[in-house]
Amino acid sequence: MADSSVMKMTVKTMPGPDLAFTNLAYCSPSDLHSFAVPGSTDLFLANVGEVFVLSFSGHESISDGSIALNSIQRRHARVSAGDNVSVTRFIPPENFDLTVLTVDLEFVRKGTKNEQIDATLLSTQLKKKFINQVLTVGQRVTFEYHGTNYILTVNRAVIEADENQTNGIERGMIGNDTYFVFEASNASGIKIVNQRESATSKIFKEKEFNLQSLGIGGLGAEFIAIFRRAFTYRLLPRDVVNRLGTKPVKGMLLFGPPGTGKTLMARQIGKMLNGKEPKIVNGPEVLSKYVGETEKNVRDLFADAENDQRTLGDASELHVIIFDEIDAICKSRGSTRDGTGVHDGIVNQLLTKIDGVEALNNVLLIGMTNRKDMLDEALLRPGRLEVHIEISLPDEVGRLQILQIHTKKMKDNSFLSPDVNLQELAARTKNYSGAELEGVVKSATSYALNRQLSLEDLTKAVDEENIKITMDDFLQALLE
Ligand code: ADP
Repeated sequence: MADSSVMKMTVKTMPGPDLAFTNLAYCSPSDLHSFAVPGSTDLFLANVGEVFVLSFSGHESISDGSIALNSIQRRHARVSAGDNVSVTRFIPPENFDLTVLTVDLEFVRKGTKNEQIDATLLSTQLKKKFINQVLTVGQRVTFEYHGTNYILTVNRAVIEADENQTNGIERGMIGNDTYFVFEASNASGIKIVNQRESATSKIFKEKEFNLQSLGIGGLGAEFIAIFRRAFTYRLLPRDVVNRLGTKPVKGMLLFGPPGTGKTLMARQIGKMLNGKEPKIVNGPEVLSKYVGETEKNVRDLFADAENDQRTLGDASELHVIIFDEIDAICKSRGSTRDGTGVHDGIVNQLLTKIDGVEALNNVLLIGMTNRKDMLDEALLRPGRLEVHIEISLPDEVGRLQILQIHTKKMKDNSFLSPDVNLQELAARTKNYSGAELEGVVKSATSYALNRQLSLEDLTKAVDEENIKITMDDFLQALLE
């Protein structure tokens, strides 16, 4: 086979049954040699027909100009033995390695052995077998595991789980880091054990979020924890989630001192989940002095989600609702009754929406509080605000990042004097919250601006060139 762009080849069946259990097609070693990428003589990727990307390997028993395909491959490419197919070299685009691959498993024949599959072991074996091979969504592949033959159907492929690429793609290449998620229908009788908690845990552990560019200092670990729990199920198709038998997280609680970035993070998470500003409400604002009005306010909060669930069902997008100062309306029932008994009704109202008979499946409620101890226990149980993440005061590294974030603009515009040592300021601001650090920057700025203003003549133009915020301004701000 000459190394031109399109090759006509004749389809053959597999030379031996053992060769059927892979994702490889076979051609003659000399064809392979002329087709393979220089330096990698044992494998090449090619389009077979219009749409089917396969990996090729050389085999002695195949004559030049032929390709051997197993029955599943032939079906996929819609060809039979003896047909001619066009074969084109497939050049993988950049970033073609799969991050997550969700597959369905079934027996080729209903077996009796190994009906229990260890997901971790199977992942390792599949990875070895399929490394650098391309899989396409919808593709079915045969393989052998511990003496039993299986078919795997590719359900969903994700190249990289970041905010721009979460919806899955058509095909990708198995790499060392590909994470397999296995599914098997109950009817198949296959039981999958040892499947990691979520497809996303691995991705987010390894993926470095550039939080600073999102305006969030410190809090890397917390952000990843929240995002992983909130995101996991978004990555999987709904029917897979149903078959997993576990329910998506519907509620989280972020708790910790005020001004530490809880709102900042929740807002960012909400945006990343569905690309738009999440709904933010505030406990005291929802409270109404009129009987029944607060319950109505809570109901209204869920109205959009309810409407979507009714009209769109499973296709509804996720509604992220951020509830700041949730303690204001969800204080322990009974104990802190304000005389009207109003709190019981509100807590029940909230619980009904996330956990009761009218429960919504398309909602993620992120509650926030400075007083976790004040919250009604019932709200924190599994199925409700079940993931609790503490957002503490920033450490020195966090404080430096926060200071960098809040001085970035002035630095970029040359308003920050070179003598300002943010590292030193971070060291001196133990126990400051993010909001307080932002306050320090504001205050330092006001000292600098003050120098430029003439109190006698407020109409005098400010000399922009001379605005410089100095280390002294910051030190003075710290004394406040
Ligand atoms: P919380 O919800 O925990 O009370 P916020 O998220 O509302 O705190 O923080 C208030 C403001 O303080 C933010 O808008 C931001 O300007 C600043 N801030 C707080 N924490 C951080 C942080 N970790 N990184 C950057 N800025 C922060």
